[in-house]
Amino acid sequence: MKIAVIGTGYVGLVTGTCFAETGNDVTCVDINSAKVDMLNRGEVPIFEPGLEVLFHRNTEKKRLHFTTDLAAAVSQATIIFLALPTPPGADGAADLSYVLGVAEELGKIITEYKVIVDKSTVPVGTADKVHAAVAKNAKVEFDIVSNPEFLREGVAVEDFLKPDRVVIGTSSEKATKLMEHLYEPFVRQGNPIIFMDERSAEMTKYAANAFLATKISFMNEIANLCERTGANVDMVRKGIGTDTRIGNRFLFPGVGYGGSCFPKDVQALFLTANEVTYNFRILDAVMQVNSLQRAIFFDKIKLKYPDLKGMKAAVWGLAFKPNTDDIREAPALYLIDQLLANGCEVSAYDPEAMAHVKQIYGDKITLAEEAYAACLDADFLIIATEWAEFRSPDFEQLSSNLKAKVIFDGRNIFSLDEMAVAGFYYESIGRSIVK
Ligand code: NAD
Repeated sequence: MKIAVIGTGYVGLVTGTCFAETGNDVTCVDINSAKVDMLNRGEVPIFEPGLEVLFHRNTEKKRLHFTTDLAAAVSQATIIFLALPTPPGADGAADLSYVLGVAEELGKIITEYKVIVDKSTVPVGTADKVHAAVAKNAKVEFDIVSNPEFLREGVAVEDFLKPDRVVIGTSSEKATKLMEHLYEPFVRQGNPIIFMDERSAEMTKYAANAFLATKISFMNEIANLCERTGANVDMVRKGIGTDTRIGNRFLFPGVGYGGSCFPKDVQALFLTANEVTYNFRILDAVMQVNSLQRAIFFDKIKLKYPDLKGMKAAVWGLAFKPNTDDIREAPALYLIDQLLANGCEVSAYDPEAMAHVKQIYGDKITLAEEAYAACLDADFLIIATEWAEFRSPDFEQLSSNLKAKVIFDGRNIFSLDEMAVAGFYYESIGRSIVK
């Protein structure tokens, strides 16, 4: 099948590459010409495990192309995916200007039947708006499909190739058949394609993200309570995670959720509810708990070091989670801002995200070439992202590089026992302090 993917970011590039991998002819479009030039030079602009291999295989086989020319890409495609940004607008609701802007353009361009698929995360009712925007100028038949994307950055390729489920919202039989055919290679192991109406598909994406964010905020509250009652959240997590009704995933407390999806999607769903005069009380609490969780963690540092002026903090991990270079809404950035505001010097390290961080902070912080170098002469170490390479460090080298053996761990990557043996002062989340 011939496919166009509009928007070549984390979702669009993975989507386009994976559809090419199953034999389709895919053209990815982006307005960012520097990004398109990079892709045409054979360089992958994002870090995503497994993506490079697939990218090179499919560009070499000439099944995967990149362009800034929307009309050229669309004219040959039967299915057009919109993988455009839907960032929070000034009021916090999803900004649909990218999606609706391109939809209007599509109406002017299309000269034969097309399926226009919304892969961006969009509020309930957007399919109707996209339909109206295309219809304004279109002189031919077209269908709109809502096909929300559930991939997780860091395992995006695996998630796309072997999705738990594919959700397709459409009222068109013709579009249903085309979408079923397109996704058939991805659901061979019995994972379902769930067909539904457009509104339910749109709501499914927000409900999934809001539920996962709720799980995280709930566990963060349990962790805070554990600290005050002498319980250990690791034990509690294992104790409840073995209950199949609860499940053992997404029960890890930390410094709060970040990334380009959870914060904006929870907020957008809350505002969707407001628009229909429904007060979604749980989501309000989820957001409050999440922003407090970062502050609670920073307060631990302030309690030990009331005057951070002239001190130096090492920070391990800048990406909002491991295995990605994405720093959107990353808790590490909040912590760095607080440290700098308190006059504390910052020396940071991340395996993949430092180039993006450099763009924000310039010379205001030091970016080290490797993890131990970030700790040289630092008064303490903060762990903000649980990259695998941080999990089994050489504690002797760490001890000799740090000025004091002090770690604030926002991701609970070490056991209390190992920290006691290594002789560190160690504060984590929902567990007692090792002194
Ligand atoms: P992104 O910012 O990484 O990528 C968006 C791309 O669209 C950028 O490359 C940008 O240059 C391009 N673009 C903007 N306007 C354009 C236009 N008019 N024409 C062509 N290209 C244009 O965003 P993303 O993370 O890929 O997210 C895209 C959508 O998918 C969002 O709605 C997001 O909520 C949703 N989503 C994201 C994830 C994730 O993990 N990142 C997961 C599921 C769903």
